[in-house]
Amino acid sequence: MLFIFTEKKNIPLFTELTNKAQKFGEISAQMMVQIDGKDQTLQQASVHLKSIDRDKRKAVFELINARRTEDQTSLDILLDELISKRQELARNANFENFRDYKFQAMGRFDYTKEDCFDFHTSIEKEIVPLIADIHKERKKLLGVEVLKPWDMQVDPNGNEPLKPFDGGEDLLDKCIACFDQIRPYYGDCIRKMKAMGHLDLVSRKGKAPGGFMYPLYETGVPFIYMNAVGLLRDAVTMVHEGGHAIHSFYTKDMELTSFKSTPSEVAELASMSMELISMEHWHVFFKDESSWKRARKEQFQGVLATLPWVAMVDEFQHWLYENSTHTHQERHNKWVAISKRYGTGLVDWTSYEKYQKTAWQRQLHIYEVPFYYIEYGMAQLGAIAIWRNYKQNPEKALDDYDRALKLGYTKTIGEIYETAGIKFDFSAAYVKDLANFVKCELELLDN
Ligand SMILES: [Zn+2]
Repeated sequence: MLFIFTEKKNIPLFTELTNKAQKFGEISAQMMVQIDGKDQTLQQASVHLKSIDRDKRKAVFELINARRTEDQTSLDILLDELISKRQELARNANFENFRDYKFQAMGRFDYTKEDCFDFHTSIEKEIVPLIADIHKERKKLLGVEVLKPWDMQVDPNGNEPLKPFDGGEDLLDKCIACFDQIRPYYGDCIRKMKAMGHLDLVSRKGKAPGGFMYPLYETGVPFIYMNAVGLLRDAVTMVHEGGHAIHSFYTKDMELTSFKSTPSEVAELASMSMELISMEHWHVFFKDESSWKRARKEQFQGVLATLPWVAMVDEFQHWLYENSTHTHQERHNKWVAISKRYGTGLVDWTSYEKYQKTAWQRQLHIYEVPFYYIEYGMAQLGAIAIWRNYKQNPEKALDDYDRALKLGYTKTIGEIYETAGIKFDFSAAYVKDLANFVKCELELLDN
């Protein structure tokens, strides 16, 4: 992190903002619902959105959202306070708004807000149509009149959710086996963390949501924190965080801490690429061919679905600070308009608009780390490109990947991407190229 602005009056503001942002975690950690007589975190409860019983899914969707709605206003007010303090901080440093200030403060010199807008447009034009195809197929397979928001997680073929592992220990051992197959060094990294007890993997009551890898500079052996409940998503999170961990091992001996801490465009490239590369070795999680195929299909579809969500959250944040005196109503309307822009028009929210308009409230970045989100989308595009390389020439792709990771943050983002054998590019032409590749891969899985 690079704080080039040290106006004295901003110092107490930093403290205040840190304290306020933490409130989001406090509010979220207390959100519980009762399902089948058991108290569950919203993360645990959301597992039931995969239930093949449509009535049950609807009930769970309503339960989760009703619980979220209890804190809707307090989360809106919390965001008001954060926006106002952040704007003050920016004005003290002679910036027109917090977005412009933040781009400088983050050291985001490799791209501009206009590049972000290009990203938004490319996703809308090239990715959303692919998702529309997926939604059409889902609707047909489910045999429903209209797709409702609770129809989006269930397996459209009516199968029970995939169960890639049973408990934290099993998850860990399978991740190690998977990494061993890609490159033995990757497996060794996770084994070392296991030996040192640097893993907290399973969801439990009162545990803060989320998943992350935390580098520990003293020993050079990082820590992984997550909330696994037994789903494919958790296995993906584990390999994702494993990718971060490998990155951390590769850079641990660098002289300066600032070289080790890469911006997310690079950090997430390491982790998201690992998600996709590891798919080829998911036999460890799925013994039979059809589950393995299904898992990859779900993963692809998840990857595609992430991209518009990232664009939505990013566009929303630009708007929040360009129009910082907005009312709650205007904020909600803006989100609904954004949801339309990146939506397929195939999911019917009638009667649930009250939930849709604040769907952004579950995105902790908006509260805790503003403007740190589009990097996920950029890195996701990069990861697709690395995975395409891996499909063409695995050894070369991994050599390039390793070389890029070992650079830490000693080069620009563009140079690091180039070393990884890919481009740092958000043009519609490039995104179309990647989208076509994913489309072909998806078609292969259907045959
Ligand atoms: Zn990550």
